[in-house]
Amino acid sequence: MADLTFADIQALDASDPLAYVRERFELPPDTRYFAGNSLGALPKTVPQRLQKLALQEWGQNLVRGWLRDDWFQLPQTVGDKLAGLIGADKGEVVVCDSTSVNLYKLAVAALHLRPQRNKIITTSDNFPTGLYILQGLAATLGRDIALKILEPDEFLDAVDEETALLTLTHVDYRTGYLHDMDAVTRRAQANGALALWDLSHSCGAMPLDLNACNVDMAIGCGYKYLNAGPGAPAFLFVRKDLQAQVRQPLTGWMGHADPFAMSRQYEPAPDIRRLLCGTHLVPGLVCLDEALNVFADIDMQAVAQKSAKMGECFIRLMEQRCNQYGFTLASPAANERRGSQVCFRHEQAYPIVQALIERNVICDFRAPDIVRFGLATLYSRYRDIWEAVAVIVAVMEEQAWQQDRFNQLAAVT
Ligand SMILES: *Cc1c(COP(=O)(O)O)cnc(C)c1O
Repeated sequence: MADLTFADIQALDASDPLAYVRERFELPPDTRYFAGNSLGALPKTVPQRLQKLALQEWGQNLVRGWLRDDWFQLPQTVGDKLAGLIGADKGEVVVCDSTSVNLYKLAVAALHLRPQRNKIITTSDNFPTGLYILQGLAATLGRDIALKILEPDEFLDAVDEETALLTLTHVDYRTGYLHDMDAVTRRAQANGALALWDLSHSCGAMPLDLNACNVDMAIGCGYKYLNAGPGAPAFLFVRKDLQAQVRQPLTGWMGHADPFAMSRQYEPAPDIRRLLCGTHLVPGLVCLDEALNVFADIDMQAVAQKSAKMGECFIRLMEQRCNQYGFTLASPAANERRGSQVCFRHEQAYPIVQALIERNVICDFRAPDIVRFGLATLYSRYRDIWEAVAVIVAVMEEQAWQQDRFNQLAAVT
């Protein structure tokens, strides 16, 4: 294959059907941003919306804002808005809490739905919070839970008639490996188990069709590809026909059938609201509501195509220009198995990432040896990749990563 040239890259940018979307984001001019899968960029309309919330809604309307400004309905209205992006119907998604908390609620709910079964299956490469939450759940539930944390090549065969729940992260946060949602869900259900997907690294980055895949439950993150800002609330999905039977453990008043009846007895809301717990974080919900407007006219197939193409270019340029520096591809080479990121292993991954960040190539390190580049196709350009690879070449040629300041481990990586 002929080497990619800067002219090729320019041609790709010039014919990019999503190029116009970049303007909708606030981005520092000199930065090549590859951490949109960790914290999405700021949509330009979010600050005005936050200001309106603060000065007008809170400042003037005070407590009346719960009704007058529809704060009370936000978990559902924002959930309904998000539903279209993930192939869910209205009434199947609520926005609330964090991804971790939502996993806890739904995993316990799944166990209640399968009272005769005691096995939960997940994979060893699942995002750590998923593993920790399941460990905590197994330790506290007054029932004999067998938590099986299995290798990616063995989990599917382990699903059996004792399995209550199979829970996976759709796109591996480290390597970008993309599971086959449809096939895996079918296998789980063929054995009578429920399937719960963590969409943190896929929602907003590719077309998703939860209902076409007959997914039972899902969770996902608001601050990554959905661009709702640091610590933004997460979402959860429960298939319509399961909702009436779902019992979740955090039976707070916002999940009550009639919160303001102030009754002494908990009674779950008849619908998806029963998955709510306490009072929701209105500023975070408002940010997500606003951030989702960016997606209103976006063709998610085009997003997936651009993401595949960008990944391909990144991989080719690294082969072309960085072959001698000891990087090995950690992501699947096949576009259809790769999420919206490209990762490389390197023995010096940590200091290399720090040196890149200092030169405004914002990527991240994932232990133990991964250099990770998220591809946020709504606002990234092909030339960002070209420039990033040029900076990688410079950092490796100069051995800049060897400097002491790049070798101090920070608390957040
Ligand atoms: C980012 C991420 C989370 C984040 O969970 P929080 O509770 O929001 O901290 C959870 N799961 C996966 C797979 C993630 O990538």
